Amino acid sequence: MIKKFIRRILGAKDKEVDPTQPAILGPKEHGIDPQLVSPNALKVTQTLQDAGFKAFVVGGAVRDLLLGVKPKDFDIATNATPEQVKRLFRRAFIIGKRFQIVHVMLGQEQLEVTTFRGASSDGSPKDEHGRVLRDNTFGEQHEDAVRRDFTINAMYYDPATQTVLDYHGGIADIKGKTLRMIGAPEARYREDPVRLLRVVRFAAKLDFAIEPATSAPIKVMAPLINNVPAARVFDEMLKLLMSGQALACLQQLRKQGLHHGLLPLLDVVLEQPLGEKFVTLALANTDARIKQGKPVSPGFLFAALLWHQVLEKWTAYQTAGEYPIPALHLAADDVLNAQTEKLALQRKIASDMRDIWAMQPRFERRIGKSPYKLLEHLRLRAGYDFLLLRCASGEIDSEIGEWWTDFIAADGGGREALLNKKAKAAEGAAAKKRPRRRNGRSKPQDGSGTANGA
Ligand code: ATP
Ligand code: MG
Repeated sequence: MIKKFIRRILGAKDKEVDPTQPAILGPKEHGIDPQLVSPNALKVTQTLQDAGFKAFVVGGAVRDLLLGVKPKDFDIATNATPEQVKRLFRRAFIIGKRFQIVHVMLGQEQLEVTTFRGASSDGSPKDEHGRVLRDNTFGEQHEDAVRRDFTINAMYYDPATQTVLDYHGGIADIKGKTLRMIGAPEARYREDPVRLLRVVRFAAKLDFAIEPATSAPIKVMAPLINNVPAARVFDEMLKLLMSGQALACLQQLRKQGLHHGLLPLLDVVLEQPLGEKFVTLALANTDARIKQGKPVSPGFLFAALLWHQVLEKWTAYQTAGEYPIPALHLAADDVLNAQTEKLALQRKIASDMRDIWAMQPRFERRIGKSPYKLLEHLRLRAGYDFLLLRCASGEIDSEIGEWWTDFIAADGGGREALLNKKAKAAEGAAAKKRPRRRNGRSKPQDGSGTANGA
Protein backbone atom coordinates (compact mmCIF):
# COMPACT_ATOMS: atom_id res chain seq x y z
CA MET A 1 0.00 0.00 0.00
CA ILE A 2 2.61 2.51 1.17
CA LYS A 3 4.88 1.59 -1.69
CA LYS A 4 2.07 2.09 -4.18
CA PHE A 5 1.30 5.44 -2.68
CA ILE A 6 4.93 6.58 -2.86
CA ARG A 7 5.14 5.38 -6.43
CA ARG A 8 2.00 7.26 -7.37
CA ILE A 9 3.43 10.46 -5.95
CA LEU A 10 6.77 9.90 -7.66
CA GLY A 11 5.05 8.98 -10.90
CA ALA A 12 3.04 12.17 -10.77
CA LYS A 13 6.19 14.17 -10.18
CA ASP A 14 7.88 12.45 -13.15
CA LYS A 15 5.13 13.57 -15.45
CA GLU A 16 5.76 17.22 -14.68
CA VAL A 17 9.07 17.12 -16.53
CA ASP A 18 9.05 16.25 -20.20
CA PRO A 19 11.50 13.36 -20.46
CA THR A 20 12.18 14.14 -24.12
CA GLN A 21 13.52 17.62 -23.32
CA PRO A 22 16.83 17.74 -21.46
CA ALA A 23 18.06 20.53 -19.24
CA ILE A 24 21.05 22.01 -21.08
CA LEU A 25 23.92 23.29 -19.01
CA GLY A 26 26.83 25.42 -20.16
CA PRO A 27 30.39 25.29 -18.78
CA LYS A 28 29.71 27.85 -16.04
CA GLU A 29 26.76 25.84 -14.74
CA HIS A 30 28.26 22.35 -14.81
CA GLY A 31 31.85 23.37 -14.06
CA ILE A 32 33.49 20.43 -15.89
CA ASP A 33 37.22 20.83 -16.31
CA PRO A 34 37.90 20.11 -20.03
CA GLN A 35 41.42 19.01 -19.09
CA LEU A 36 39.94 15.90 -17.51
CA VAL A 37 38.49 14.73 -20.83
CA SER A 38 40.77 12.27 -22.59
CA PRO A 39 42.07 13.60 -25.95
CA ASN A 40 41.01 10.29 -27.50
CA ALA A 41 37.42 10.73 -26.35
CA LEU A 42 37.55 14.15 -27.94
CA LYS A 43 38.90 12.66 -31.16
CA VAL A 44 36.07 10.10 -31.30
CA THR A 45 33.25 12.60 -30.68
CA GLN A 46 34.87 15.03 -33.13
CA THR A 47 35.22 12.42 -35.88
CA LEU A 48 31.61 11.34 -35.49
CA GLN A 49 30.36 14.93 -35.44
CA ASP A 50 32.45 15.84 -38.50
CA ALA A 51 30.77 12.96 -40.30
CA GLY A 52 27.38 14.49 -39.48
CA PHE A 53 26.43 12.36 -36.47
CA LYS A 54 25.59 13.30 -32.92
CA ALA A 55 28.21 12.19 -30.41
CA PHE A 56 28.55 12.64 -26.67
CA VAL A 57 30.56 11.39 -23.76
CA VAL A 58 28.02 9.52 -21.64
CA GLY A 59 27.42 7.58 -18.44
CA GLY A 60 30.02 7.11 -15.74
CA ALA A 61 32.52 9.44 -17.39
CA VAL A 62 30.12 12.42 -17.25
CA ARG A 63 29.24 11.57 -13.67
CA ASP A 64 32.92 11.49 -12.73
CA LEU A 65 33.67 14.70 -14.63
CA LEU A 66 30.88 16.45 -12.73
CA LEU A 67 32.36 15.17 -9.50
CA GLY A 68 35.76 16.53 -10.55
CA VAL A 69 37.22 13.02 -10.81
CA LYS A 70 39.30 11.89 -13.78
CA PRO A 71 37.22 9.14 -15.46
CA LYS A 72 38.96 5.79 -15.80
CA ASP A 73 37.41 5.22 -19.21
CA PHE A 74 35.13 6.98 -21.66
CA ASP A 75 31.93 5.73 -23.17
CA ILE A 76 30.57 7.54 -26.20
CA ALA A 77 26.92 7.60 -27.30
CA THR A 78 25.96 8.39 -30.87
CA ASN A 79 23.13 8.17 -33.37
CA ALA A 80 25.46 6.46 -35.86
CA THR A 81 24.87 2.72 -36.23
CA PRO A 82 27.67 0.31 -35.28
CA GLU A 83 28.48 -0.19 -38.98
CA GLN A 84 28.68 3.56 -39.56
CA VAL A 85 30.94 3.98 -36.52
CA LYS A 86 33.23 1.17 -37.59
CA ARG A 87 33.79 2.75 -41.01
CA LEU A 88 35.10 5.97 -39.46
CA PHE A 89 37.96 4.42 -37.48
CA ARG A 90 40.92 2.36 -38.48
CA ARG A 91 40.87 0.09 -35.46
CA ALA A 92 37.24 -0.48 -34.55
CA PHE A 93 35.50 -3.73 -33.68
CA ILE A 94 31.83 -4.51 -33.37
CA ILE A 95 31.20 -6.69 -30.34
CA GLY A 96 28.30 -7.92 -28.23
CA LYS A 97 25.30 -10.13 -28.74
CA ARG A 98 22.61 -8.69 -26.51
CA PHE A 99 23.34 -5.21 -27.78
CA GLN A 100 26.01 -4.42 -30.34
CA ILE A 101 28.65 -1.86 -29.43
CA VAL A 102 31.87 -0.74 -31.10
CA HIS A 103 35.29 -0.79 -29.48
CA VAL A 104 37.41 1.96 -30.97
CA MET A 105 41.12 1.64 -30.24
CA LEU A 106 43.23 4.79 -30.25
CA GLY A 107 46.77 4.09 -29.09
CA GLN A 108 46.46 2.15 -25.84
CA GLU A 109 43.01 3.50 -25.09
CA GLN A 110 39.82 1.62 -25.80
CA LEU A 111 36.66 3.67 -26.19
CA GLU A 112 33.24 2.10 -26.15
CA VAL A 113 30.89 3.63 -28.70
CA THR A 114 27.21 2.81 -28.30
CA THR A 115 24.34 3.69 -30.58
CA PHE A 116 21.38 5.33 -28.80
CA ARG A 117 19.08 2.57 -27.64
CA GLY A 118 15.41 2.46 -28.49
CA ALA A 119 12.52 3.28 -26.22
CA SER A 120 11.01 0.47 -24.30
CA SER A 121 11.88 -3.08 -23.52
CA ASP A 122 8.18 -3.98 -23.27
CA GLY A 123 8.17 -5.93 -26.51
CA SER A 124 11.59 -7.54 -25.98
CA PRO A 125 11.88 -11.25 -25.26
CA LYS A 126 12.14 -11.97 -21.51
CA ASP A 127 12.80 -15.00 -19.33
CA GLU A 128 10.11 -16.32 -16.98
CA HIS A 129 11.22 -13.88 -14.24
CA GLY A 130 10.92 -10.82 -16.48
CA ARG A 131 14.60 -10.45 -17.28
CA VAL A 132 15.11 -8.94 -20.72
CA LEU A 133 17.00 -11.38 -22.92
CA ARG A 134 17.57 -9.38 -26.11
CA ASP A 135 16.90 -5.89 -27.27
CA ASN A 136 18.74 -4.57 -30.21
CA THR A 137 16.64 -1.59 -31.16
CA PHE A 138 18.15 1.79 -31.86
CA GLY A 139 16.39 5.02 -30.92
CA GLU A 140 16.53 8.69 -30.03
CA GLN A 141 18.77 10.21 -27.41
CA HIS A 142 15.93 10.79 -24.94
CA GLU A 143 14.95 7.13 -25.31
CA ASP A 144 18.54 6.13 -24.65
CA ALA A 145 18.50 8.25 -21.48
CA VAL A 146 15.41 6.46 -20.10
CA ARG A 147 17.13 3.10 -20.59
CA ARG A 148 20.08 3.97 -18.39
CA ASP A 149 20.08 2.88 -14.77
CA PHE A 150 20.54 5.90 -12.48
CA THR A 151 19.86 9.60 -13.00
CA ILE A 152 23.54 10.38 -12.39
CA ASN A 153 24.53 7.90 -15.13
CA ALA A 154 22.19 9.36 -17.76
CA MET A 155 23.85 12.61 -18.73
CA TYR A 156 25.54 13.48 -22.02
CA TYR A 157 28.51 15.79 -22.45
CA ASP A 158 29.47 17.34 -25.75
CA PRO A 159 33.16 18.28 -25.53
CA ALA A 160 32.91 20.50 -28.63
CA THR A 161 30.32 22.87 -27.17
CA GLN A 162 31.08 21.98 -23.55
CA THR A 163 27.41 21.44 -22.77
CA VAL A 164 25.80 18.82 -20.56
CA LEU A 165 22.39 17.37 -21.46
CA ASP A 166 20.51 16.20 -18.39
CA TYR A 167 17.22 14.36 -18.98
CA HIS A 168 16.43 13.03 -15.50
CA GLY A 169 17.64 15.48 -12.91
CA GLY A 170 21.10 13.93 -12.67
CA ILE A 171 22.79 17.22 -11.85
CA ALA A 172 20.54 17.75 -8.84
CA ASP A 173 21.22 14.19 -7.67
CA ILE A 174 24.98 14.66 -8.05
CA LYS A 175 24.68 17.75 -5.86
CA GLY A 176 22.47 15.93 -3.36
CA LYS A 177 24.76 12.84 -3.45
CA THR A 178 21.77 10.67 -4.24
CA LEU A 179 21.49 7.45 -6.18
CA ARG A 180 18.11 7.35 -7.87
CA MET A 181 16.83 4.78 -10.32
CA ILE A 182 15.24 6.12 -13.49
CA GLY A 183 11.64 4.89 -13.76
CA ALA A 184 9.98 2.40 -11.41
CA PRO A 185 12.81 0.73 -9.45
CA GLU A 186 11.08 -2.64 -9.06
CA ALA A 187 10.51 -2.99 -12.79
CA ARG A 188 14.05 -1.85 -13.56
CA TYR A 189 15.57 -4.44 -11.19
CA ARG A 190 13.35 -7.11 -12.67
CA GLU A 191 14.34 -6.45 -16.27
CA ASP A 192 18.02 -6.50 -15.31
CA PRO A 193 18.84 -7.78 -11.79
CA VAL A 194 22.51 -6.84 -12.22
CA ARG A 195 21.31 -3.36 -11.27
CA LEU A 196 20.97 -4.69 -7.71
CA LEU A 197 24.73 -5.02 -7.60
CA ARG A 198 25.31 -1.78 -9.42
CA VAL A 199 23.31 0.25 -6.93
CA VAL A 200 25.41 -1.11 -4.10
CA ARG A 201 28.66 -0.54 -5.97
CA PHE A 202 27.89 3.09 -6.79
CA ALA A 203 26.58 3.87 -3.31
CA ALA A 204 29.80 2.58 -1.77
CA LYS A 205 32.15 3.91 -4.41
CA LEU A 206 30.70 7.43 -4.56
CA ASP A 207 29.55 7.54 -0.94
CA PHE A 208 26.05 8.48 -2.13
CA ALA A 209 22.80 7.72 -0.33
CA ILE A 210 20.33 5.39 -2.03
CA GLU A 211 17.04 7.19 -2.43
CA PRO A 212 14.28 5.33 -0.46
CA ALA A 213 12.19 4.16 -3.44
CA THR A 214 15.37 2.88 -5.11
CA SER A 215 16.55 0.98 -2.05
CA ALA A 216 13.16 -0.35 -0.89
CA PRO A 217 12.85 -3.33 -3.31
CA ILE A 218 16.49 -4.47 -3.08
CA LYS A 219 16.14 -7.00 -0.27
CA VAL A 220 13.02 -8.63 -1.68
CA MET A 221 14.38 -8.80 -5.18
CA ALA A 222 17.85 -10.07 -4.26
CA PRO A 223 17.15 -13.69 -5.33
CA LEU A 224 16.58 -12.54 -8.92
CA ILE A 225 20.32 -12.29 -9.34
CA ASN A 226 20.42 -16.09 -9.43
CA ASN A 227 18.87 -16.08 -12.89
CA VAL A 228 21.51 -13.85 -14.38
CA PRO A 229 24.15 -15.62 -16.46
CA ALA A 230 27.21 -16.27 -14.30
CA ALA A 231 29.52 -14.39 -16.64
CA ARG A 232 27.62 -11.13 -16.18
CA VAL A 233 27.52 -11.52 -12.41
CA PHE A 234 31.23 -12.15 -12.51
CA ASP A 235 31.90 -9.00 -14.56
CA GLU A 236 29.88 -6.90 -12.16
CA MET A 237 31.52 -8.52 -9.14
CA LEU A 238 34.92 -7.80 -10.57
CA LYS A 239 33.99 -4.13 -11.07
CA LEU A 240 32.82 -4.07 -7.50
CA LEU A 241 36.01 -5.61 -6.18
CA MET A 242 38.23 -3.40 -8.32
CA SER A 243 36.36 -0.18 -7.56
CA GLY A 244 38.90 0.99 -5.01
CA GLN A 245 36.11 0.64 -2.42
CA ALA A 246 35.82 -3.12 -2.28
CA LEU A 247 35.56 -3.25 1.49
CA ALA A 248 32.84 -0.62 1.59
CA CYS A 249 31.02 -2.41 -1.25
CA LEU A 250 31.02 -5.74 0.58
CA GLN A 251 29.78 -4.06 3.74
CA GLN A 252 26.95 -2.48 1.72
CA LEU A 253 26.09 -5.81 0.12
CA ARG A 254 25.80 -7.32 3.55
CA LYS A 255 23.71 -4.41 4.80
CA GLN A 256 21.33 -4.81 1.87
CA GLY A 257 21.08 -8.55 2.45
CA LEU A 258 22.54 -9.10 -0.98
CA HIS A 259 25.30 -11.51 -0.01
CA HIS A 260 22.96 -14.27 1.13
CA GLY A 261 22.42 -17.01 -1.39
CA LEU A 262 22.91 -14.29 -3.93
CA LEU A 263 26.57 -14.81 -4.56
CA PRO A 264 28.00 -18.07 -3.36
CA LEU A 265 31.38 -16.46 -3.12
CA LEU A 266 30.19 -13.84 -0.69
CA ASP A 267 28.38 -16.30 1.50
CA VAL A 268 31.70 -17.96 2.03
CA VAL A 269 33.71 -14.82 2.40
CA LEU A 270 31.53 -12.90 4.80
CA GLU A 271 30.53 -15.69 7.08
CA GLN A 272 33.74 -17.32 8.11
CA PRO A 273 35.09 -15.65 11.23
CA LEU A 274 38.59 -17.01 10.70
CA GLY A 275 38.83 -15.71 7.19
CA GLU A 276 37.33 -12.34 7.93
CA LYS A 277 40.54 -10.72 9.06
CA PHE A 278 42.39 -12.13 6.06
CA VAL A 279 39.74 -10.97 3.59
CA THR A 280 39.50 -7.55 5.20
CA LEU A 281 43.26 -7.13 4.92
CA ALA A 282 43.27 -8.38 1.33
CA LEU A 283 40.54 -5.98 0.29
CA ALA A 284 42.06 -3.02 2.14
CA ASN A 285 45.32 -3.85 0.37
CA THR A 286 43.56 -4.01 -3.01
CA ASP A 287 41.75 -0.72 -2.39
CA ALA A 288 45.03 0.95 -1.48
CA ARG A 289 46.75 -0.37 -4.61
CA ILE A 290 43.93 0.84 -6.84
CA LYS A 291 43.98 4.27 -5.25
CA GLN A 292 47.72 4.45 -5.93
CA GLY A 293 47.13 3.49 -9.56
CA LYS A 294 48.91 0.14 -9.15
CA PRO A 295 47.65 -2.91 -11.02
CA VAL A 296 45.57 -5.54 -9.24
CA SER A 297 45.21 -9.04 -10.57
CA PRO A 298 41.77 -10.65 -10.40
CA GLY A 299 43.50 -13.98 -9.76
CA PHE A 300 45.15 -12.63 -6.62
CA LEU A 301 41.92 -11.10 -5.43
CA PHE A 302 39.87 -14.25 -5.81
CA ALA A 303 42.69 -16.39 -4.42
CA ALA A 304 42.52 -14.23 -1.30
CA LEU A 305 38.73 -14.25 -1.08
CA LEU A 306 38.62 -18.03 -1.17
CA TRP A 307 41.79 -18.87 0.75
CA HIS A 308 40.15 -19.75 4.02
CA GLN A 309 37.79 -22.09 2.27
CA VAL A 310 40.83 -23.78 0.74
CA LEU A 311 42.52 -23.91 4.16
CA GLU A 312 39.51 -25.61 5.70
CA LYS A 313 39.36 -28.26 3.02
CA TRP A 314 43.12 -28.68 3.02
CA THR A 315 43.02 -29.54 6.73
CA ALA A 316 40.11 -31.92 6.17
CA TYR A 317 41.95 -33.83 3.44
CA GLN A 318 45.04 -34.14 5.62
CA THR A 319 43.00 -35.31 8.54
CA ALA A 320 41.61 -37.95 6.22
CA GLY A 321 45.16 -39.14 5.58
CA GLU A 322 46.32 -37.25 2.47
CA TYR A 323 49.85 -35.89 2.25
CA PRO A 324 50.01 -32.09 2.52
CA ILE A 325 50.75 -31.24 -1.13
CA PRO A 326 48.17 -33.52 -2.79
CA ALA A 327 45.72 -32.46 -0.10
CA LEU A 328 46.21 -28.81 -1.06
CA HIS A 329 45.58 -29.60 -4.73
CA LEU A 330 42.43 -31.54 -3.89
CA ALA A 331 41.20 -28.64 -1.77
CA ALA A 332 41.96 -26.20 -4.60
CA ASP A 333 40.06 -28.44 -7.05
CA ASP A 334 37.01 -28.52 -4.81
CA VAL A 335 36.90 -24.78 -4.28
CA LEU A 336 37.59 -23.92 -7.91
CA ASN A 337 35.04 -26.40 -9.25
CA ALA A 338 32.31 -25.06 -7.01
CA GLN A 339 33.05 -21.46 -7.91
CA THR A 340 33.64 -21.95 -11.63
CA GLU A 341 30.20 -23.40 -11.93
CA LYS A 342 28.49 -20.57 -10.09
CA LEU A 343 30.72 -17.63 -10.79
CA ALA A 344 32.09 -18.33 -14.27
CA LEU A 345 35.68 -17.87 -13.14
CA GLN A 346 37.65 -17.55 -16.32
CA ARG A 347 40.23 -20.24 -16.88
CA LYS A 348 43.18 -17.87 -16.70
CA ILE A 349 41.99 -16.47 -13.37
CA ALA A 350 41.42 -19.95 -11.95
CA SER A 351 44.90 -21.03 -13.00
CA ASP A 352 46.45 -17.93 -11.40
CA MET A 353 44.59 -18.71 -8.19
CA ARG A 354 45.85 -22.27 -8.19
CA ASP A 355 49.43 -21.08 -8.75
CA ILE A 356 49.25 -18.67 -5.84
CA TRP A 357 47.83 -21.29 -3.49
CA ALA A 358 50.22 -24.01 -4.60
CA MET A 359 53.20 -21.77 -3.91
CA GLN A 360 52.30 -21.28 -0.24
CA PRO A 361 53.72 -24.48 1.26
CA ARG A 362 56.81 -24.02 -0.88
CA PHE A 363 57.58 -20.78 0.94
CA GLU A 364 57.88 -22.79 4.10
CA ARG A 365 60.56 -25.10 2.70
CA ARG A 366 63.60 -23.02 3.36
CA ILE A 367 66.26 -25.66 2.75
CA GLY A 368 68.52 -26.70 -0.11
CA LYS A 369 67.56 -25.64 -3.61
CA SER A 370 63.83 -25.17 -2.92
CA PRO A 371 63.89 -21.39 -2.28
CA TYR A 372 66.01 -20.83 -5.41
CA LYS A 373 63.52 -22.73 -7.54
CA LEU A 374 60.72 -20.67 -6.11
CA LEU A 375 62.57 -17.46 -7.03
CA GLU A 376 62.26 -18.48 -10.68
CA HIS A 377 58.50 -18.93 -10.46
CA LEU A 378 56.69 -16.62 -12.90
CA ARG A 379 54.13 -15.69 -10.27
CA LEU A 380 56.61 -15.28 -7.41
CA ARG A 381 55.57 -11.69 -6.73
CA ALA A 382 51.90 -12.60 -6.34
CA GLY A 383 52.72 -15.66 -4.22
CA TYR A 384 55.01 -13.59 -2.00
CA ASP A 385 52.43 -10.80 -1.56
CA PHE A 386 49.94 -13.49 -0.62
CA LEU A 387 52.39 -14.91 1.92
CA LEU A 388 52.72 -11.46 3.50
CA LEU A 389 48.94 -11.25 3.81
CA ARG A 390 48.92 -14.58 5.60
CA CYS A 391 51.55 -13.25 7.98
CA ALA A 392 49.73 -9.98 8.56
CA SER A 393 46.47 -11.79 9.35
CA GLY A 394 48.21 -13.89 11.97
CA GLU A 395 47.70 -17.15 10.13
CA ILE A 396 51.43 -17.86 10.04
CA ASP A 397 54.49 -16.52 11.85
CA SER A 398 55.60 -13.19 10.41
CA GLU A 399 59.20 -14.45 10.56
CA ILE A 400 58.55 -16.40 7.32
CA GLY A 401 57.50 -13.27 5.46
CA GLU A 402 60.46 -11.30 6.79
CA TRP A 403 62.85 -14.09 5.82
CA TRP A 404 61.51 -14.07 2.25
CA THR A 405 61.68 -10.29 2.02
CA ASP A 406 65.38 -10.54 2.90
CA PHE A 407 65.98 -13.56 0.67
CA ILE A 408 64.46 -11.90 -2.40
CA ALA A 409 66.44 -8.70 -1.82
CA ALA A 410 69.78 -10.40 -1.03
CA ASP A 411 72.63 -11.21 -3.43
CA GLY A 412 74.11 -14.69 -3.87
CA GLY A 413 76.22 -14.61 -0.70
CA GLY A 414 73.42 -13.07 1.31
CA ARG A 415 71.03 -15.79 0.25
CA GLU A 416 73.44 -18.55 1.28
CA ALA A 417 73.87 -16.83 4.63
CA LEU A 418 70.11 -16.66 5.13
CA LEU A 419 69.73 -20.34 4.27
CA ASN A 420 72.53 -21.29 6.66
CA LYS A 421 71.06 -19.18 9.41
CA LYS A 422 67.72 -20.85 8.89
CA ALA A 423 69.28 -24.32 8.89
CA LYS A 424 71.15 -23.56 12.14
CA ALA A 425 68.04 -22.15 13.78
CA ALA A 426 66.08 -25.24 12.74
CA GLU A 427 68.81 -27.53 14.08
CA GLY A 428 68.90 -25.62 17.34
CA ALA A 429 65.15 -25.73 17.75
CA ALA A 430 65.01 -29.41 16.88
CA ALA A 431 67.79 -30.23 19.33
CA LYS A 432 66.03 -28.38 22.10
CA LYS A 433 62.55 -29.70 21.56
CA ARG A 434 62.76 -32.98 19.76
CA PRO A 435 66.33 -34.23 20.12
CA ARG A 436 65.90 -37.31 17.97
CA ARG A 437 63.57 -36.03 15.27
CA ARG A 438 64.93 -36.47 11.75
CA ASN A 439 62.31 -34.95 9.53
CA GLY A 440 62.18 -31.14 9.85
CA ARG A 441 59.06 -31.07 7.66
CA SER A 442 56.74 -32.84 10.02
CA LYS A 443 53.92 -30.98 11.74
CA PRO A 444 55.30 -28.05 13.72
CA GLN A 445 54.38 -28.13 17.39
CA ASP A 446 55.09 -24.48 18.08
CA GLY A 447 52.49 -22.94 15.83
CA SER A 448 55.11 -21.47 13.54
CA GLY A 449 54.01 -23.27 10.42
CA THR A 450 50.57 -23.27 8.82
CA ALA A 451 47.74 -24.80 10.68
CA ASN A 452 48.06 -27.53 8.08
CA GLY A 453 51.64 -28.40 8.81
CA ALA A 454 52.76 -28.14 5.19
P1 ATP B 1 32.27 2.91 -13.88
O1 ATP B 1 32.92 4.22 -13.67
O2 ATP B 1 32.38 2.06 -12.69
O3 ATP B 1 32.66 2.24 -15.16
P2 ATP B 1 29.84 3.39 -15.26
O4 ATP B 1 28.63 4.16 -14.86
O5 ATP B 1 30.63 3.91 -16.41
O6 ATP B 1 30.71 3.23 -13.98
P3 ATP B 1 29.54 1.04 -16.83
O7 ATP B 1 29.27 -0.36 -16.39
O8 ATP B 1 30.82 1.34 -17.49
O9 ATP B 1 29.36 1.93 -15.54
O10 ATP B 1 28.32 1.47 -17.75
C1 ATP B 1 28.32 2.65 -18.54
C2 ATP B 1 26.94 3.27 -18.56
O11 ATP B 1 26.01 2.38 -19.19
C3 ATP B 1 26.33 3.56 -17.20
O12 ATP B 1 26.73 4.81 -16.70
C4 ATP B 1 24.84 3.50 -17.48
O13 ATP B 1 24.39 4.69 -18.06
C5 ATP B 1 24.76 2.41 -18.53
N1 ATP B 1 24.54 1.06 -17.95
C6 ATP B 1 25.46 0.12 -17.67
N2 ATP B 1 24.92 -0.99 -17.16
C7 ATP B 1 23.60 -0.77 -17.12
C8 ATP B 1 22.47 -1.54 -16.72
N3 ATP B 1 22.63 -2.77 -16.22
N4 ATP B 1 21.25 -0.98 -16.84
C9 ATP B 1 21.07 0.27 -17.33
N5 ATP B 1 22.09 1.03 -17.72
C10 ATP B 1 23.34 0.55 -17.63
MG1 MG C 1 32.31 2.95 -17.38
